[in-house]
Amino acid sequence: MDTSELFKTLGLDASQLQGGTLAVHSPIDGSVLAKLPEHTASDVDKMVSRAHEAFLKWRTVPAPRRGELVRLLGEELRENKEALGRLVSLEAGKILAEGAGEVQEMIDICDFAVGQSRQLYGLTIASERPGHRMMETWHPLGVVGVITAFNFPVAVWSWNTALALVCGDPVVWKPSEKSPLTALACQALLQRALKKFGDDAPEGLSQVLIGGRDVGEALVDHPRVALLSATGSTRMGRQVGPRVASRFGRYLLELGGNNAIIVGPTADMDMAARGILFGAVGTAGQRCTTTRRLIVHESVADQLVERLKKAYQSAPIGNPLEDGTLVGPLIDEDAYNGMQTALQQAREQGGTVFGGERQLADQYPDAWYVSPAIVDMPGQTEVVCHETFAPILYVMRYQEFDEALAMQNDVPQGLSSAVFTNDLREAEQFTSAAGSDCGIANVNIGTSGAEIGGAFGGEKETGGGRESGSDAWKVYMRRATNTINYSRELPLAQGIKFGDD
Ligand code: NAD
Repeated sequence: MDTSELFKTLGLDASQLQGGTLAVHSPIDGSVLAKLPEHTASDVDKMVSRAHEAFLKWRTVPAPRRGELVRLLGEELRENKEALGRLVSLEAGKILAEGAGEVQEMIDICDFAVGQSRQLYGLTIASERPGHRMMETWHPLGVVGVITAFNFPVAVWSWNTALALVCGDPVVWKPSEKSPLTALACQALLQRALKKFGDDAPEGLSQVLIGGRDVGEALVDHPRVALLSATGSTRMGRQVGPRVASRFGRYLLELGGNNAIIVGPTADMDMAARGILFGAVGTAGQRCTTTRRLIVHESVADQLVERLKKAYQSAPIGNPLEDGTLVGPLIDEDAYNGMQTALQQAREQGGTVFGGERQLADQYPDAWYVSPAIVDMPGQTEVVCHETFAPILYVMRYQEFDEALAMQNDVPQGLSSAVFTNDLREAEQFTSAAGSDCGIANVNIGTSGAEIGGAFGGEKETGGGRESGSDAWKVYMRRATNTINYSRELPLAQGIKFGDD
């Protein structure tokens, strides 16, 4: 399927993709896919006001009926899984299997949210007063602003939007300026679902804001945005969090990670090697959950590192649209420069670098392919504590498990973590209160590739937010505690007497 046919399948109007100021490049070869008109800060105000009007209507539509809209969205995604996955590959540089996998995550969260639409449960609570009942009710919250990163250009929107819609909230989405086409495609698919849904869906339930940081900031500051859900770098979160807090808005931050795998002496080495390879090299190291640190017991370290080096050398690097490719391009030249700077710093801090060179420069002079790097480090130095958004795996050795755990936790980020071990004590310690301090802590599974059923997110500089499964829906709603007195008396709580006879 050529690009214009792909756009058409996904409902993108070719005439609206040219003549604007935002050039959208494909990281595959650097070519310009579109030039989109950009929104301004005053458009943000109009969009949010429109979304607020939509909220006043949508909040009264019964939740299971709201779920029907999300079911229809899931159907559109099923029908267009291959096409949307392909556009993800084209715009974000993921291999086709990962592009399609990202769309599958969207389908999964739609299914989850449809079920959730009948389960927005509150508690009934025992009252201390006779003839009284207490309960909790969950109500729609208001307009949800969603800001997303380039590397999961569609899934993160769906995690937020599927839940927001069933919870009764409209969404205004500012995708990354590096991946706006996939956002327009998602919006077009949702419009198709809305057409099938019927009249009780108000206008303005879902809107897309095209632009960079300035329109993002206008969304962050808008007083009618009840929840701001932002996914991206810790640098971005450090700016966004305090701004939303200063107007007493609610925020959900999903920021950078620095994820480690600990490999113990009893680990199944075949499984560990595969888990590390997928975690460190998949998506060319551009996942928030990418494995960036390997903390390996000294008795098995040399053997494992040798094995990884062989696997790295045979992982095909190239055009992500071609069969067999495992490592696609970095998103842009800045990402490449960031990787080279980190490797240089690692060398200066005592590291020995394997791989990391630019690849395919003759064939793709305007794209940024690299061989993934393994860096043997003498310890967890400064560069290791930073998230460099590229395929660099730092290797540290340990002797005692407590030492490995301490190293795993001794970074500012707290997203994902894993241990490969067949020692029950190590596995239990890792997942205990004194174990990994991350939002995700796995045993005999790598750090990336979470399922949508669990709550997703991390601690410390990762921002503390949780989205997707479990009870993440609660952040999209407001909780009211109701006390109902069905007696003929008016007893006060805590037995207080106030003006009684
Ligand atoms: P980025 O921080 O450069 O940009 C993310 C988004 O924030 C973009 O839409 C950008 O326009 C917007 N933005 C930037 N500054 C802003 C500001 N001051 N106000 C409002 N909006 C602003 O991130 P990126 O390079 O697109 O993505 C990579 C980063 O995202 C990595 O750090 C990665 O770990 C992180 N990430 C985290 C998760 C997670 O779930 N924890 C998921 C995906 C990516």
